[in-house]
Amino acid sequence: MPRPIVAIIHLAALRHNLARARACAPDSRAWAVVKANAYGHGLERALRGFAEADGLALIEFDNAVRLRELGWTKPVLLLEGWFDAADLHTMARHGLNGAAHCDEQIALLESTPLARRIDVHLKMNTGMNRLGFRPHEFARAHARLRAIPHVGEITLMTHFANADEAAHRCLPIGEQIRRFDAGAAGLPGPRSLANSAGVFRMPELKETLVSDWIRPGIMLYGGTPGGGSAAEHGLLPAMTLASELIGVQDIAAGDFVGYGSRFEADRAMRIGVVACGYADGYPRHAPTGTPVLVNGVRTRSVGRVSMDMMAVDLTDVPEARVGSRVVLWGQGLPIDEVADSAGTIGYELMCAVAPRVRIEED
Ligand SMILES: *Cc1c(COP(=O)(O)O)cnc(C)c1O
Repeated sequence: MPRPIVAIIHLAALRHNLARARACAPDSRAWAVVKANAYGHGLERALRGFAEADGLALIEFDNAVRLRELGWTKPVLLLEGWFDAADLHTMARHGLNGAAHCDEQIALLESTPLARRIDVHLKMNTGMNRLGFRPHEFARAHARLRAIPHVGEITLMTHFANADEAAHRCLPIGEQIRRFDAGAAGLPGPRSLANSAGVFRMPELKETLVSDWIRPGIMLYGGTPGGGSAAEHGLLPAMTLASELIGVQDIAAGDFVGYGSRFEADRAMRIGVVACGYADGYPRHAPTGTPVLVNGVRTRSVGRVSMDMMAVDLTDVPEARVGSRVVLWGQGLPIDEVADSAGTIGYELMCAVAPRVRIEED
């Protein structure tokens, strides 16, 4: 029998969450972002869950080609664009779109004749200071791209740093939109601005936030980018990480649990040992008190997470025994709460689910 830990992927939730994104941006076309193995949910499952998306966006070339091999005929967008000339040939051969964010990429495109045109997303740096041309350089980069015969449609794109906060102190979304509008003024082509946090803001910012293409990622998987809970946004968890108790210990006041003896019982108590550890992708830095469900009852982790196991408090689950079901996150326990307790974000937890964890679908 395999170890009881399993990541259950809820395909209906992927479909539901995509519909939620569309409801926020009814006039936009939607890229479903499937980078990082669809945030840990599996590329092939994402392809089925997002069959209604207008395109799939990712970073990895091998997976972009795999989408074609799996039969995806709608657009595919490489969010960091191409890294060398061979990538450009791959893009032309498979009809893949890519982002252009620096002069080096444009130079490569100029010096690499292609048999078929490729569509390009020209990226503007509006304050995130990761990738993209500054607003004042944007029109020049656009003209340079436009002059390349094997460039097809040019979409204008940027990426928000703080769309999850109503009024960020350093770089509010409104400021990024203003910089984008200034840099893109007079240029033709569709616009692509909104990640999940931006998508949530679109109903409120109808007048200013024009995004012909949206690029939701985390919301499609039932997580939030910050600011509000998934349930408030009407999202459903797309992954449940579940396991079982494989041991139970009755401990006395003054007994310790786990490596480093970091948890000391202040009374007699029962603890359960769960087949889930950091080698499965559970965060080792999750402290005592991180929420866990045992038999559907919310309890807490105790002591250090080890490689293959972690301990949970069974005080409120007296009927729990070896074989009892444990939910680490997902249905009944939002991943954002677990992430918050562990000092991280749901994105990191989803992406970190280890290859040794069995995947099932429901
Ligand atoms: C990852 C990514 C997204 C999706 O972001 P979420 O916060 O997961 O919605 C959108 N656009 C770009 C360029 C990205 O790299």
